[in-house]
Amino acid sequence: MKKQEHKCLFCGTAMRREFGPLEYSITSKWSVTVLDNESLVCPKCGEKEDLIVRALHLEMRIAAEVIKKRNPLSGDELRFLRGLLLLNGREFARSLGISPETLSRYEKGVYRLNQTVDRLARAMASLYLLRHGGPAAEFPPFIEGRPVSIKLTLYLDKKGEYRVADERRAAA
Ligand SMILES: [Zn+2]
Repeated sequence: MKKQEHKCLFCGTAMRREFGPLEYSITSKWSVTVLDNESLVCPKCGEKEDLIVRALHLEMRIAAEVIKKRNPLSGDELRFLRGLLLLNGREFARSLGISPETLSRYEKGVYRLNQTVDRLARAMASLYLLRHGGPAAEFPPFIEGRPVSIKLTLYLDKKGEYRVADERRAAA
């Protein structure tokens, strides 16, 4: 099979493949790092296009790590889980048994999530992963501490699965 050539949308020059870290933005305040991520770079004008391989799988891996974490969900994480579930604010609020206004305050970080809502959101995301062939994610035995968004560095393994970088170091 002939290798597909990608041309720069701006100047038409053949683009080069490069591999480097990508900051994958989830919200304006939260991103995760993907190591050795493929991008196309134009050698002439410098245009860069990041290729996200299997974006749904990347999001499901992030969700699994969020479900497993021991500190409370941050507003950004709650919003991310809602996005994964493809629910709007009204629908998600109804599923969680809270008002849309309360959900909005949780997502903005104005209110701290109560533990029941936190666990229910994780349970919904966990079911989603199960139904869509995502990674297994067990609940933490307890939730404590501050609601800080999880810091993650991921990489794509040879089988095309996203993994946490610390695990690669541990396995090496
Ligand atoms: Zn160009």
